Amino acid sequence: MPNGVCVHMEAIEEVKHPKKQVCDECVKIKAEWLHLRTCQECNATLCCDSSPNKHATKHAHATKHPVIASAERGERWLYCYPDDAFVEY
Ligand SMILES: [Zn+2]
Ligand SMILES: [Zn+2]
Ligand SMILES: [Zn+2]
Repeated sequence: MPNGVCVHMEAIEEVKHPKKQVCDECVKIKAEWLHLRTCQECNATLCCDSSPNKHATKHAHATKHPVIASAERGERWLYCYPDDAFVEY
């Protein structure tokens, strides 16, 4: 994956895509979301910071899984929380 961005992104060989186009946590609590992100560590798909529950960010902080990818069709980017690094691929 992208070189020179951060160690977490360099460790990604293949970007993980969502299994389903839903937020795993919002589904459980019947909440709504705006955009989806997929954790590159465990393949969880969760909602973005523009969504009321911000599940992707909560997941990253709780689990220390560093990198998410956009799960939106047509968007090809990764974001690393600890390095606050954004890259398109
Ligand atoms: Zn990183
Ligand atoms: Zn959610
Ligand atoms: Zn994860």
